[in-house]
Amino acid sequence: MELTDHAYRIQGMALTELAQKYGTPLYVYDGDKIVSQVNTLKEAFSGVKLKIKYATKALSNVNILRLMKRAGTGMDAVSIEEVRLCLHVGFDPSEIMYTPNCVSFAEIQEAVELGVMINIDSIPMLEHFGTTYGGSVPICIRLNPHILAGGNAKISVGHIDSKFGISILQLKHVHKVVEAYGLRVVGLHVHTGSDILDAEVFLKGAEILFEAATEFPNLDFLDFGGGFKVAYKPGDISTDMKDVGAKVSAAFQRFCTSYGKELEIWFEPGKFLVSECGLLLVTANVVKPTPATTFVGVNSGLNHLIRPMMYDAYHGVVNVSRLAGPERIYTIVGYICETDTIAADRKLREVQEGDVLAIKNAGAYGFSMSSNYNSRLRPAEVLLFGGKDYLIRERETFADILRHQVDVSF
Ligand SMILES: *Cc1c(COP(=O)(O)O)cnc(C)c1O
Repeated sequence: MELTDHAYRIQGMALTELAQKYGTPLYVYDGDKIVSQVNTLKEAFSGVKLKIKYATKALSNVNILRLMKRAGTGMDAVSIEEVRLCLHVGFDPSEIMYTPNCVSFAEIQEAVELGVMINIDSIPMLEHFGTTYGGSVPICIRLNPHILAGGNAKISVGHIDSKFGISILQLKHVHKVVEAYGLRVVGLHVHTGSDILDAEVFLKGAEILFEAATEFPNLDFLDFGGGFKVAYKPGDISTDMKDVGAKVSAAFQRFCTSYGKELEIWFEPGKFLVSECGLLLVTANVVKPTPATTFVGVNSGLNHLIRPMMYDAYHGVVNVSRLAGPERIYTIVGYICETDTIAADRKLREVQEGDVLAIKNAGAYGFSMSSNYNSRLRPAEVLLFGGKDYLIRERETFADILRHQVDVSF
């Protein structure tokens, strides 16, 4: 988003005009930015055999998935429905990694039949897989290295009491199962969580994976998951991709030399690819002074963007209707009957009823975590790509709220 030619714009298009054309609340995605993030990652790892597996769950509109395909990524899916979405937009099954957690074995069988790579996340599942398929279907194993990424336990999934992955302490047990069933392990995976600050955290996970990998002789790839950090607030550190790329690539090459084979290095970024590309445009319904603060109540809330309430996430807010004038301190809240603070104590250009506010960094885990709470409609989604705007999801209607409800007479 930039302030040029008397308006806040993306790809030359004024946000206030988009709000007028499509209505609010409205998710707006900058497709060119997504492509440039993919390219940044590719360049950072240009010295190794890189495969990017975009984490579908971050933003799963099929047109975004299509854009990823065009940009040359593969996919990471965490449900059979996500696998089906990826297939729907034309990904080859071989480009899809399925990383299930606590799903039924029937769902894993379904994924095997669809031909995607399965990332196995528990020893019982590994045994079940062995009983059913033996070594006939290659697999990946998800290990938990017990690293607390970024220190936020809500988004870190690699720590000791996390439900994800097979503990690195259970490796001996894993090998017994692998041998007993003749399993073909072609990949090892770690995903430590969504707040990786620098190369050091990644390298810590990497060293553990390298050590484990020496005992698996048939590997084709190592998968380091997602978790690259992007800046949410001014002064935030974002992952220095060049630095991470250089250091991790060097360590990976050293490992490949000692392993005796040039493996592929996989990453599964969600946030890094789509967070900064997205804005949620909302309209100020009411400006309400109270003894403690002045609230701006907007036509959205935790039903559309749950991250502030769920993770204490910080999202920048800009009053895109006002280019000049005094600034005041506001707390921006939603219209949901629940405490739903979107942003507390922020300096915005003086807000009047009807002003359009842009909530930044809303591309990842925004729409994909939205709900119909309070029987509210979910927003429309618009993709900007190559200087054009495309409606990629219609705003819901009241009929959608009634859909699937069964009116019975009793
Ligand atoms: C959520 C998830 C990711 C993506 O995490 P980001 O923080 O968005 O990069 C990658 N891999 C797996 C297995 C995940 O569950």
